[in-house]
Amino acid sequence: MEVVSTVAELRARVSGWKRAGESVGLVPTMGALHAGHMSLATASRGECARTVLTIFVNPTQFAPHEDLTRYPRPLERDLDLCQREGVDLVFTPAVEEVYPPGDSTFVEVTGITKNWEGELRPSHFRGVATVVTKLFLMALPDRAYFGQKDFQQQAVIRRMTRDLHLPLEIVTCPIVRDADGLALSSRNVYLSPGDRQAGLCLPRSLKHVEELWRNGERDPARLTRELRSVLAAEPRMSLNYGVLVDPMTLEEATTPRNELVALVAGRVGQTRVLDNTWLRMSASDHQGGN
Ligand code: AMP
Repeated sequence: MEVVSTVAELRARVSGWKRAGESVGLVPTMGALHAGHMSLATASRGECARTVLTIFVNPTQFAPHEDLTRYPRPLERDLDLCQREGVDLVFTPAVEEVYPPGDSTFVEVTGITKNWEGELRPSHFRGVATVVTKLFLMALPDRAYFGQKDFQQQAVIRRMTRDLHLPLEIVTCPIVRDADGLALSSRNVYLSPGDRQAGLCLPRSLKHVEELWRNGERDPARLTRELRSVLAAEPRMSLNYGVLVDPMTLEEATTPRNELVALVAGRVGQTRVLDNTWLRMSASDHQGGN
């Protein structure tokens, strides 16, 4: 495994592979790697000849009051995990490599960035869309891997990739959870045992609506009420939103439909936690329908 930090080195490696006819998968991360990140690398390894994992704590997606400076950066441990996973190349650029001094160009996705995380973190998706576009253009991968854990983020990246005709495929991978059900996140290290216990109301609320969905409930208003009643039972959760949305538009759903995503997010103590579940018709529903 090689570790490089300049765009020139990254491009030299990737273009060598491409000339040899090898496909390239890209896994963008901010480091502090856990099994969720590694599942993206595993998916890439399964589908692409070469896997590039990037570690870059992107300053433009943090607001001034957020945790940019204290965000965990255990680089040695991260590199060890990448090595064991069989990652071919790790790209760890400095901020100036990604954002040349005096730069003034950003990528802005409108519409689906308006609500939820976009409303709570006004410049967040501009930072994400900008850095992901840069990483795509730096590495020119055939596929790029993102987690469903950040549902709105993968929707924004899909939309941006389509709108800008970026020549790669976006792959969204399932949420990886700890044994207690909490979705893995680099920020979980901030949670005290009590915070963590409170955070479990997110997966609990999602399981509850999954169960209702399996039993045939399709009314978004009823599902939303049920979702929120589980969340409201946890006094330590300061809820940001608990909603049922259309998976493509990210607009709140008001009429019954065959596909919905339940998005939940809030704060426990000082830490934000988010989670979601994708409610779809199962294959047997399709067979049984008309
Ligand atoms: P981050 O380092 O938090 O920016 O995350 C990098 C990538 O890993 C993003 O595509 C996330 O959606 C994905 N990811 C983070 N946590 C998980 C998880 N628990 N399961 C699956 N993917 C995840």
